[in-house]
Amino acid sequence: MAAIKTYSIQNPSHREETVKKYGLTENELLTLHERSVAAKSRAYCPYSKFRVGATLLSNNGQWIDGANVENASYGIGTCAERVALGKAVTEGIRSFKAVGVAADIEATCSPCGACRQFIREFCDLETPIFMFNIKGEYATMTISELLPLSFGPDVLPSPEVLEANRPQT
Ligand SMILES: [Zn+2]
Repeated sequence: MAAIKTYSIQNPSHREETVKKYGLTENELLTLHERSVAAKSRAYCPYSKFRVGATLLSNNGQWIDGANVENASYGIGTCAERVALGKAVTEGIRSFKAVGVAADIEATCSPCGACRQFIREFCDLETPIFMFNIKGEYATMTISELLPLSFGPDVLPSPEVLEANRPQT
């Protein structure tokens, strides 16, 4: 697979190229970066110290932030993306224009497999995910690029259809 191109939020021509490609305004891109980075400060991660912030921009222009929440029972900790989506969905916000993720690492922080599936539930396949690193560099991929051949609500038939499809024995 070809390397993913990395851009810098400080570079105006990079920002211009990005907003054109993904249909955002420059202010939306800058805000997505600022809020994703700021959301990290509210992470509860005493065990890993790995702070992650996530920000959602809804199709109605609302901003929703989340951060990772760990637990002494390590395995049940929750990622920033799922915290943000849970907040949004339970506030009645279910359609999104962009997702931002930021962490304190040199790599542009990409959502884990579980979060990709969680994002897939509520976002169009072409929704861009902006993955920021600690230096303000970012890579952008759509959820269909991050999760090819994905399974989502649109491919899940109703229980009645599944029942009717069962072979009779
Ligand atoms: Zn995750």
